[in-house]
Amino acid sequence: MARFNTPIDDIKYLNCEFLDRSLLKNSPLLSELNDDTTQAIFDEASKVAENVLFPLNRSGDEQGCSYNKGQVQTPDGFKQAYQQLTAAGWGNLSCKTEYGGQGLPHYLANAVDEMLIAGNMSFTIYLGLTIGAYHAIEQFASEQIKEQYLPAMVSGKWSGTMCLTEPHCGTDLGLIRSNAIADGAGAYKITGSKIFISAGEHDLSENIIHLVLARTPSAPAGIKGISLFLVPKFLLDKKSQLSQNNNVSCSGLEHKMGIKASATCAMQFDGATGYLIGDLHKGMQAMFVMMNSARIHVGIQGLALAHAAYSGALDYAKNRLQSRSISGSKYPELAADPLIVHPDIRRMLMTMKAYTEGARAFSSWLSFQLDVSQYCDDLIQRQQAHELVSLLTPVFKVFLTDMGELVSSLGIQIYGGHGYIRENGMEQYLRDARICQLYEGSNGIQALDLIGRKLPAHMGRYCRHFFHPLSAFIEDHKDNERLAAYIRPLAKSFTRLQNASLYIAQQGLTNPEQAASVASDYLKLFGLVVVAYMWAQMAQKIDTRQGDMAAEFYDAKLVTGLFYMQHLLPQTTALSASIMLGGDSVMALKESQF
Ligand SMILES: Cc1cc2nc3c(=O)[nH]c(=O)nc-3n(C[C@H](O)[C@H](O)[C@H](O)COP(=O)(O)OP(=O)(O)OC[C@H]3O[C@@H](n4cnc5c(N)ncnc54)[C@H](O)[C@@H]3O)c2cc1C
Repeated sequence: MARFNTPIDDIKYLNCEFLDRSLLKNSPLLSELNDDTTQAIFDEASKVAENVLFPLNRSGDEQGCSYNKGQVQTPDGFKQAYQQLTAAGWGNLSCKTEYGGQGLPHYLANAVDEMLIAGNMSFTIYLGLTIGAYHAIEQFASEQIKEQYLPAMVSGKWSGTMCLTEPHCGTDLGLIRSNAIADGAGAYKITGSKIFISAGEHDLSENIIHLVLARTPSAPAGIKGISLFLVPKFLLDKKSQLSQNNNVSCSGLEHKMGIKASATCAMQFDGATGYLIGDLHKGMQAMFVMMNSARIHVGIQGLALAHAAYSGALDYAKNRLQSRSISGSKYPELAADPLIVHPDIRRMLMTMKAYTEGARAFSSWLSFQLDVSQYCDDLIQRQQAHELVSLLTPVFKVFLTDMGELVSSLGIQIYGGHGYIRENGMEQYLRDARICQLYEGSNGIQALDLIGRKLPAHMGRYCRHFFHPLSAFIEDHKDNERLAAYIRPLAKSFTRLQNASLYIAQQGLTNPEQAASVASDYLKLFGLVVVAYMWAQMAQKIDTRQGDMAAEFYDAKLVTGLFYMQHLLPQTTALSASIMLGGDSVMALKESQF
């Protein structure tokens, strides 16, 4: 079985040394949070991931969820783990204290999330969906609904779902057929079929709070006619206690490639009572809040699985003996040298490490921007951070989930044939990682969101929130010879990104199909530059001051960053060429020629 350790040192370094938290220094959010407390939280989370969740990962995958007459049973051990984690508050770190949450910053909660997901992705889906639903309710529901539902959701006693997808409608939510008819008493009767609903039914919580997209009879056609409803599995009585069943049923479980311990359900709503969340016909607005939080969460899933695969592969590369080093035996006392001496194994390990650590820095930094967008006392900074997060959310989701697939596949490669064998656990990471590229808006759709909505927003203003600080950073450090190996490649790839952005913006106005044809290439180019910016900042900070980590840690960071600049960032050259040539050949064939 592949070994698993959390990236605890890297997480401590990023949160306590890399992040510049000065923008929130006056915020009550950080007033009781010193580095000792932060590190103690990380140490505990790491133990939970390694000792509680990881031991259930393989068995959960083997056993999966089971379905019997509308009831869904999660794998052995999940219920106890759920009780243990929710009692300790691991599911509600960033929820507001007034509802029983811990009121901690997103950057801290997301770092904890990475460790828990890496330990057992399927398990954490039950917690993650509840938090997504919490955010939409907290922002859009009436005070009465918040009081009735949020405390029990925050405590984990009740869980949440997100019910969008229907058999004929996935990406194009304008096609939704589920309907909502006013019952004359302030609520609605919801009828329709939803598929692929994560955590739609299970045995972990006492009630399940579904957030359902549906259409009222008078609603305009398409996406503008959709409303959002809160539909509990069990209705509440006047004292907010569970009363009768609410005509919501699970008609079956999907059989999937991965995340087998996460219940993916077909759900039936037969005149179930639902309560409007937000304004009528403005359901997508509320749902976007949930989806944006969920997209960042899914990006973190990609990162977490990449780390889990790296953790397993690294251990194997150090222990599996095969062949002698090309430069002469390194361990003559052994029958052969360990895999880690071989350059091609090193290439794969460095690729895994450079992507994963760079992406983790991106995750910390973006999560901090999310905190600034909500808690900074300077309203201009707050707005800028909000727009920056909007711009980078699709980049984050796609770059980290594509990386999750690539890195978990490399993990199998390092294991050789043993990686393909189930009992070693490496193939599970790849199967689990694959869904991240599909749900919460498939990766192709995220690329369209980037070029179609985010790039042109306010005449490029969102983009300038990223481009201007990056430009200033390059300008500030371009003459520092010690940093030249980081700053020069960053500057070159940034120029490619700027040119590509201009091209995409122009094409978007005159020939949107051209722009859409190269949108995924453009997003990848963007992601590579963001992560290069993270590596360059890490190098610059380490060059200026080294903190509490061992000297070897900083040394490894600098070398790994160099590897990123020399061997991964050059992909921007090819991507830029592909983008600038446009999409003619992409669209040239007639359908009959395929
Ligand atoms: C395990 C699992 C869990 C899920 N959990 C949930 C959940 O909790 N709640 C929920 O509501 N849904 C859930 N989903 C559904 C998921 O979000 C959808 O599968 C996803 O949105 C894509 O929809 P689709 O599968 O219908 O694909 P389609 O929309 O049919 O798309 C098929 C392909 O075409 C591409 N495509 C579609 N339109 C365009 C376009 N305009 N331009 C370019 N490309 C396009 C897509 O990118 C995709 O590659 C889950 C799915 C799975 C498999």
